[in-house]
Amino acid sequence: MFTILFMPTMRCNLRCSYCHFKHGQNGFEAYGKFHEISSELNWQNWLQYFNRWRPYFLEFTGGEPLMWKGFKDFIAHIPTRCSWAITSNTLLDVTSIPSKKCKSWTASYHYKAKEKFEKNMEILKARGFPVSVSVVAKFGNIKDCIAEAFYFSSLGYRVNILRELNPNINWEGTEQWRQIAALKAKGFNVVEDDIPPKYDFPKGFVCLAGKNYVCAMPDGKIYRCYSQAMLGEPMGNIENVELLNRASECNCPCLGCAKDFQSPKKKLNKNGEDMKVINRIAGIFKTSLDRFYNRSTKV
Ligand code: SF4
Ligand code: SF4
Repeated sequence: MFTILFMPTMRCNLRCSYCHFKHGQNGFEAYGKFHEISSELNWQNWLQYFNRWRPYFLEFTGGEPLMWKGFKDFIAHIPTRCSWAITSNTLLDVTSIPSKKCKSWTASYHYKAKEKFEKNMEILKARGFPVSVSVVAKFGNIKDCIAEAFYFSSLGYRVNILRELNPNINWEGTEQWRQIAALKAKGFNVVEDDIPPKYDFPKGFVCLAGKNYVCAMPDGKIYRCYSQAMLGEPMGNIENVELLNRASECNCPCLGCAKDFQSPKKKLNKNGEDMKVINRIAGIFKTSLDRFYNRSTKV
């Protein structure tokens, strides 16, 4: 199914210290590059433009997607055979969001407003949303982070653990990392368990981003993928963008995605497509975001 990483807004109700998007409404900074976001399309526009890619699977992220005022209306109008997933800090109003087409709700816990977070999680769970909790492991406070992970697990949630994004911290070989990695054996989803991450991939790889998968930014710019949105140039605008015809070579300086969705040309099938990529496309955003975080520590 055609997959769209959809960032309808870069605004957020929080200002986390490790966030690339904390500059607010006018843009964000990633890899030392400032991106201006001058406008946000409304939900009717997006619905109309996405129509050509039906059926599609949307991965909402941002910014905080619930800050986008068109969110509930958009969700209520998603066409048949289309579905969605979201990563949200889950601190805004979650009532009256239809759950029917939601495949995954990842609630990022930011050590803020815990009572409200838990209340919203209960609402979502009771309404049948497939929820999980992501906990950011802070290097200087591992003990409390692990306690939070166990706490949410005890409430019956699947828990993902991500390392804190901080260019001044190297987790490699540390006791903190050993403690986080050990949680895997206890059933936690420890995201990105290679330290240092294995990014030594040569250029000249190809991938399906831009053909079966795109990243849509608030102002309507369309990029091949999340890495390209952070570092590269857009393919075009949602009104008239032309998708690629086949898997294509990529010159994006970010090779953080390489392990999962690039492959040498010799591994492509007869249509020039990478079957491993096709099978794993639904997991693109989660992996991409985490790799992006890790890559950012190298710039
Ligand atoms: S909740 Fe997410 S998007 Fe918002 S400031 Fe924190 S890290 Fe950034
Ligand atoms: S950065 Fe990675 S996912 Fe994006 S177009 Fe290049 S190879 Fe594909």
